Amino acid sequence: MDRIILGRIGEIALKGLNRSTFEHRLAANMHKAISDLGAAQIHWSQSRYFVEPENDDFDFDTAVKRLSGVFGLVSISPAWVMDTEAELFFAKAVEVAQACVRERGAKTFKVETKRGLKSFPMNSPQISEEAGGRILDALPELSVDVKHPDFIVYIEVRERSYVYTDIIDAPGGMPVGSNGKACLLLSGGIDSPVAGYMIGKRGVAICAVHFYSYPYTSERAKEKVLELARIVSRYTGPMKVAVVPFTDVQLAIMQNCREELSTILLRRSMMRIAERVARMNSCSALITGESVGQVASQTVQAIYCTDNAVANMPVYRPLIGMDKMETVEIARRIGTFETSIQPYEDCCTVFTPKHPKTRPNLEEVLKEEENYDHAALEEIAIRDIETVTV
Ligand code: ATP
Ligand code: MG
Repeated sequence: MDRIILGRIGEIALKGLNRSTFEHRLAANMHKAISDLGAAQIHWSQSRYFVEPENDDFDFDTAVKRLSGVFGLVSISPAWVMDTEAELFFAKAVEVAQACVRERGAKTFKVETKRGLKSFPMNSPQISEEAGGRILDALPELSVDVKHPDFIVYIEVRERSYVYTDIIDAPGGMPVGSNGKACLLLSGGIDSPVAGYMIGKRGVAICAVHFYSYPYTSERAKEKVLELARIVSRYTGPMKVAVVPFTDVQLAIMQNCREELSTILLRRSMMRIAERVARMNSCSALITGESVGQVASQTVQAIYCTDNAVANMPVYRPLIGMDKMETVEIARRIGTFETSIQPYEDCCTVFTPKHPKTRPNLEEVLKEEENYDHAALEEIAIRDIETVTV
């Protein structure tokens, strides 16, 4: 195949002595993302990755799509590859320009050249000028616009040469698995999938825990959460989801504790269970989708009371300072939004008190917590966890 996918890195290039660990990890993750699409070689040099299909039946377009979601890459380009001979890349430049006119109705263009091979007899401006001239000869309806062209023909002259027109954004960040593992508290809402995505983007491997309250929440609500986990796992890799039966804890709180504190008590119980699940899965942190001030259970005082239930593990709250609109924007971009807004009930909403206390006091919460046997109930919930890998 004379096609190739070029990948560019960002932050990884700033790494010092350990840079090669990150580079190897990224190559392995890229491999995993496309391994079912046909055989391909992946190699890299300086800040550039090269994905080279070995056979013509390689599913090139799907590979481009998948690689544009791999953490660690900042952009990718589907390109043509050829020996470094002027006639070859000039002919290809004309060909890609013809495709842009035919398929996109483009009217203006420019050529940009990078010459990595300093021994090549023409310099970059000369190559651009010659390629531009040949494109204009072949397509007299086109004109050059250096400021706002409809498309750019990129020519890179190295040991081999590359011609392409598109630079597709990839998410950046760090390759997953280069930075430990954390446990995401995943609900069916908009926020927590985004939180998992954001921490995954920093190179952290993710597993998830979901609390459900059958029969108060339906089988379909659980399916929705697994679907969200599946979407997040497109970026983070396969994910283990611990589904925790939470009904008995919720009923005990409802029957034995003051209604206005029930949400906080519920959230404290979730955090304790999540911390245990995290330890069982070798995680060093918890992740939630909380944002300060968003709802009664996320006031400064409420988060103080929730956090206090976690014995010995940091809680990452990547959305803590974000507005809902900003979170929604990310949710749309990563593809979780449409699933999140499906109207299936969450275990929290089923048991929501009419007047939740927005400024709970930790002492009164701890006192109220003595009114039900949380340790025993949480033990049973953990015992009955169902694990699903997505
Ligand atoms: P989300 O949109 O993520 O559901 P939210 O704004 O609805 O968040 P809450 O319902 O108060 O807020 O939940 C805050 C956080 O607690 C969630 O972001 C999530 O991390 C965790 N959480 C809430 N409900 C569940 C659940 N049923 N299972 C697992 N985690 C949950
Ligand atoms: Mg929610």
